[in-house]
Amino acid sequence: MNERHCILCGRQAFSLKVVNSYNISKCTGCGLEYADPMPTQAQLAAFYGDYADFRARTEVTRRNAERNLDGLLDKGYVGPQSRILDFGCGGNQFVAACRERGLGRSYGFDRYVFPDGDDLLVSLEDAERGGWDLICLWGVLEHLVDPVTTLRELRGMLAENGRIVCTTVCTEMRIPFQYKPPEHTLYFSRASFGELARASGLELVCVEDYFMEQDADVYLSILLRTMPDAYKARVSHSLPKFVEVPTNEVVAVFGR
Ligand SMILES: [Zn+2]
Repeated sequence: MNERHCILCGRQAFSLKVVNSYNISKCTGCGLEYADPMPTQAQLAAFYGDYADFRARTEVTRRNAERNLDGLLDKGYVGPQSRILDFGCGGNQFVAACRERGLGRSYGFDRYVFPDGDDLLVSLEDAERGGWDLICLWGVLEHLVDPVTTLRELRGMLAENGRIVCTTVCTEMRIPFQYKPPEHTLYFSRASFGELARASGLELVCVEDYFMEQDADVYLSILLRTMPDAYKARVSHSLPKFVEVPTNEVVAVFGR
């Protein structure tokens, strides 16, 4: 029988379940759950080839980009002169929010979006020139197939006191999460962030619950998902159009 070892801390892992024909293993030490083996580049290409959602531009996405920026400004992680890289930027709403607020040295990079002519995007080569005060990974970590290598590379791209801020799914939240391999390959416990930091040569600064804004109608429909239709039709609300809601994600901050 072949032994499984955690890709972050190296301790023993066991096969937890099979989802979409991908095995999910769980570490007995740090609690990380992960696709084991990880999907291959060919499997990912086949999956993302007909995946159209990652550049979604909705009002909710824009509002949350602004909200994320507010959080970074409040904590003093960024200021007007900060060099900011949004790694895995999708439709680049976060950088648009930064620019609107006068943070003129912010750029997006996404391996699935080509920069041609868009001066808010940089190529991988430009991103790798480094000196970034802040690198953000909004909902990116759970997609990585080699998180330690990626974070080591990002560490090398940070300015001296630079930070990496990530939001990602956490398995220990009150809001349940879904297993979605090959799209989501990593499911973090709180303890596993410390192991990711250690393995990547980073310092873990904090892990906090992540809240977002949601369209109240959408939020209500999520809450009512398991309610029979006959009752659903009788539920109405007097919430504002957008509400702050808890999520199954955390914000993890790393320093070098
Ligand atoms: Zn582990």
